Amino acid sequence: MSAIEDGEARELDVEALEAALREAVDGEVRFDAGSRGAYVTDGSNYRQVPIGVVVPRTVDAGAAAVAVCARFGAPLLSRGGGTSLGGQCTNTAVVVDWTKYCHQLVSVDPEARTCVVEPGIVLDELNRQLAPHHLMFGPKPSTHSHCALGGMIGNNSCGASAQAYGKTADSVRRLEILTYDGTRTWVGATSTEQYDEITAAGGRRAELYRGLRDLSDRHLADIRRGYPELPRRVSGYNLPDLLPENGFHVARALVGSEGTLVTVLHAELDLVPVPAAQAMLVLGYPDICAAADDVPRLLEHCRPTQIEALDDRMAQLMHEEGAYLESLSSFPEGSSWLLVQFSGDTQEEVDRQSHDLLRALGRDERDGTVAFSDDPDREEQMLKAREAGLGVTARPPDGRETWEGWEDSAVPPQQLGAYLRDLKKLFTDFGYDHPSLYGHFGQGCVHTRIPFQLRTAEGVATFRSFLEHAADLVVSYGGSLSGEHGDGQARGELLTRMFGERLVGAFGELKALFDPGDRMNPGKVVAPNRLDSHLRLGADWRPRDEDDTRFGYPDDEHSFRRAVMRCVGIGNCRSHEGGVMCPSYRATGEEEHSTRGRARLLFEMMGGHADSPVTDGWRSTEVRDALDLCLACKGCKSDCPTGVDMATYKAEFLSHHYQGRLRPAAHYALGWLPLWARLSRVAPGAVNTLLRAPGISTLGKKLAGVAPQRDAPVFAEESFVQWWRRRGAPEPDPADPRTVVLWPDTFSTYFHPSVARSAVKVLTDAGFQVAVPTDAVCCGLTWISTGQLDTAAKVLRRTLTTLRPWLEAGTPIVGLEPSCTAVFRSDLPELMPKDEDVKRLAGQFHTFAELLLQRAPDGWRPPVLNRAATVQTHCHQHAVTKFDADRELMRRAGIHADVLDEGCCGLAGNFGFEAGHHQLSMDIAESGVLPAVRGAAPSALVLADGFSCRTQIEQGGTGRGALHLAEVLALALDGPAPADHPEKAAARPAPPPSAVSRLVAAGAAVAAGAACYALTRRLRH
Ligand SMILES: Cc1cc2nc3c(=O)[nH]c(=O)nc-3n(C[C@H](O)[C@H](O)[C@H](O)COP(=O)(O)OP(=O)(O)OC[C@H]3O[C@@H](n4cnc5c(N)ncnc54)[C@H](O)[C@@H]3O)c2cc1C
Ligand code: SF4
Ligand code: SF4
Repeated sequence: MSAIEDGEARELDVEALEAALREAVDGEVRFDAGSRGAYVTDGSNYRQVPIGVVVPRTVDAGAAAVAVCARFGAPLLSRGGGTSLGGQCTNTAVVVDWTKYCHQLVSVDPEARTCVVEPGIVLDELNRQLAPHHLMFGPKPSTHSHCALGGMIGNNSCGASAQAYGKTADSVRRLEILTYDGTRTWVGATSTEQYDEITAAGGRRAELYRGLRDLSDRHLADIRRGYPELPRRVSGYNLPDLLPENGFHVARALVGSEGTLVTVLHAELDLVPVPAAQAMLVLGYPDICAAADDVPRLLEHCRPTQIEALDDRMAQLMHEEGAYLESLSSFPEGSSWLLVQFSGDTQEEVDRQSHDLLRALGRDERDGTVAFSDDPDREEQMLKAREAGLGVTARPPDGRETWEGWEDSAVPPQQLGAYLRDLKKLFTDFGYDHPSLYGHFGQGCVHTRIPFQLRTAEGVATFRSFLEHAADLVVSYGGSLSGEHGDGQARGELLTRMFGERLVGAFGELKALFDPGDRMNPGKVVAPNRLDSHLRLGADWRPRDEDDTRFGYPDDEHSFRRAVMRCVGIGNCRSHEGGVMCPSYRATGEEEHSTRGRARLLFEMMGGHADSPVTDGWRSTEVRDALDLCLACKGCKSDCPTGVDMATYKAEFLSHHYQGRLRPAAHYALGWLPLWARLSRVAPGAVNTLLRAPGISTLGKKLAGVAPQRDAPVFAEESFVQWWRRRGAPEPDPADPRTVVLWPDTFSTYFHPSVARSAVKVLTDAGFQVAVPTDAVCCGLTWISTGQLDTAAKVLRRTLTTLRPWLEAGTPIVGLEPSCTAVFRSDLPELMPKDEDVKRLAGQFHTFAELLLQRAPDGWRPPVLNRAATVQTHCHQHAVTKFDADRELMRRAGIHADVLDEGCCGLAGNFGFEAGHHQLSMDIAESGVLPAVRGAAPSALVLADGFSCRTQIEQGGTGRGALHLAEVLALALDGPAPADHPEKAAARPAPPPSAVSRLVAAGAAVAAGAACYALTRRLRH
């Protein structure tokens, strides 16, 4: 038995609750520490440990979970994408996560332009499914790639497009709701006849309707007068929707109630046509207040679909972070900008609207402060910079943390300039230096993140005082505390300042009507927890002392804790397409297997709060299990707006977790692969035969912790280094500017030596003199990815010694395998940040394409192929080395590259080979790269520089083999490649004939039998 901490303390038999949920709910019921730890917070400053998590398989199962909670009196919290910023999506409650299974588009009526959805459907996914009907859901928060419709309804979400389409409430027709006490019903606009019918039928539904009518009648005058007139009022319950003039719209009144009144089971939504044409004007201003001042004038002259703003501070941060530079380069002169978008039926119409506005403003397309675009890709590019605001400002390069709290206040657009000037003054008064200001200025909504100090009592008190002053300020301008994110805990306590006691009293009455026991998301909006309680940090946050960490974390003040705290909860790692992050989430749909879930668990692991569900530090099995499915693809390192690098944190964790203990077999089998590969030189053919011999191979894989479904890669009869030695090429002078060291990585040396031989050919053709280290060298990748960091460091030190002459001479080194190159560019400088040779090596290490483009002697042109190619970028190319040079080299070589944006191949080094990972590995591959390769024309090249990607493509039933770019260029040097399946021309080691493997297996069986017989006889005697 344990007591619920929040609100009225009540005894709750958690074990019995869990058992009852398991019994009644078709779904996953998780009360384990790992699941609870993954859900401790949303995107806000707040943190509350859930009682348990339920992931219902159907909407009815979700309803069953609510019924069980009601039976036990357990607090309840519905969750969508968990991107809320006000603390409304964290609670000590049973969390129902609707996103994994309840995400169907139930029906579409294209004529009526409506649809019915389940609550877990993600907005982008909904719009993708609506696209064939040329329809979409109008409101579009910046989190559109991962926020769910249930969450949008919960928050009454808006976003940039609200200028044209209004808030979510404006697009909700009807909701199917479930009250805590079990009333399940559809609600919407209610005519007098319907009202009479419902109330005549009696029961709880009638009681609710009568109560609503009574409440709106009694508070009629306050409701009519007490809500400010502005487009972005999201704070408070939507009582005006209950007014007769608004159709007694019960559904809209419940939108924005943040899970505190009802659970939404289905929603019927109004849809809008996808605009046929769009155009955008970007207008430059000397500062953000001047931009705000101009908004009313713009609105006088046009009806845009959005007016977004971005300031000089944000632009400065983008420059410092090297992010969104392409977007910024499209912006005109100025230090702050308004992005004005027009939509319409024809391009002429939207172009005309843009030019009419310019004329009315006395500005011209040719002015330096004006940029005009009617290219949808360019517009999207420009808007991306604005959408990225929170991520860019959350962890600026100066290391200063910024926080939500006053991140979406809104005023009437006419007041915006004056409000911003006062807000800036308030920042100065409180010592909050220069927060960026941006947002949906066309509707007066201002975003910002503020460097609150949330670790000391004084800092927390200042945070509170600032919020109180800011609330009074916004109210003095007739504004709203929240213009789109909702109240939650951050603003719940401040609502009386905006609405007064009587209206807040009415909110309490509404809450009491639907949820008299205060079990629905308690402590939020109504009877709220204090805005400075339950903080993620807070003055009582006492994380454990940091042990000696293996990596240096140079960008995080050398602190693993600070590195983990990069995750501010934006949730991009829950997106379903584009980029790489996060393949394990995309395949499992589970919070725990998203980058964010893992970051949460690592945060909990560091202690800090007495109620943390993770109690055993580095030895935690919960954290280990959450990290187990991390592919170490580094997708997050590049795709997470705050640069969370989970692959590094995983390696750090594994290193501590297994310190002084036996590791999983795969860590020895796959982690030590470079050593086994070297040993294979004794008899590569025999090793290949043994690895494939029936019985022996099965037993071997079992012992090695390798997935039984995987075929071992074939060792080459002659390794690249053996070939190189046999060639006996003279060693070039390291100081000769034509000399280049070719890095003999394990994969290009022992498994696909054709890659390295091809590279020698192309580099020689380009005028380089190639040197190859023939002593054993290694980047340590496999030891790093399995967390054997001491061994990795030893291997790397030996490698640095071997490379010393070239490092001293400044000789460029070229890598062929992207993951090895990424080690030298990224992991090694983090592992040994103080070593000067490491810095030299990182600077001297080039990718194959970079070297040829940037350093090939003048006049060299790559051979021209004139071929289409399907290209799979390795995750570490995507995240660390980048692919621009490869694209350019391919362009120059006449390769018409279709560079896939299908994410990780799913194999990711040792990951896909490890027992227990095969299914996930294949699911990831089947959701992206494999179907794309199957769809490639037979004549097309299939290109993949990563050994893992090539292996996955070859073992994934595509009927295709993949080539490294070096192999493709080498083929072109020899003349035209084969017309079909050009990969045939590349030499790959062939597996031994199966008859031989079977013979070996039989021989081994006979030998084993004989040995057993002999042993038995001996024992008998
Ligand atoms: C970087 C960033 C940018 C953002 N930009 C915008 C923006 O442009 N515009 C905007 O409006 N917001 C924005 N937000 C806030 C947030 O992303 C949106 O409000 C989003 O729509 C919330 O969706 P979600 O699925 O994440 O909701 P969640 O956070 O999961 O839930 C939101 C609320 O809805 C409740 N809820 C969820 N499902 C149900 C259900 N089935 N029944 C009842 N209640 C339910 C929850 O309990 C919670 O109170 C942003 C947030 C971040 C982090
Ligand atoms: S890992 Fe990055 S993208 Fe994911 S929630 Fe955290 S900050 Fe956002
Ligand atoms: S490294 Fe890859 S799998 Fe791991 S959390 Fe980051 S994106 Fe996800």
